[in-house]
Amino acid sequence: MFEVTVDYEKCQGDEECVGNCPSEVFDWDEENQKPIVARMDDCLGCETCVEVCEVGAITVEEV
Ligand code: SF4
Repeated sequence: MFEVTVDYEKCQGDEECVGNCPSEVFDWDEENQKPIVARMDDCLGCETCVEVCEVGAITVEEV
């Protein structure tokens, strides 16, 4: 199991995590223009989201 956390203070809302996650873990919150960790149980722990986030807003931890 992995715990995916978005730091909304850092997040710039560029949607890279949403578009690049191979497991569709993120939904897009249109109202706030931020990603939502909607399907954490589907996370593969690949850290693609961590790599594509230019501001380092996402952390993935094995739990
Ligand atoms: S670690 Fe991989 S599978 Fe998990 S949320 Fe990030 S991109 Fe998706």
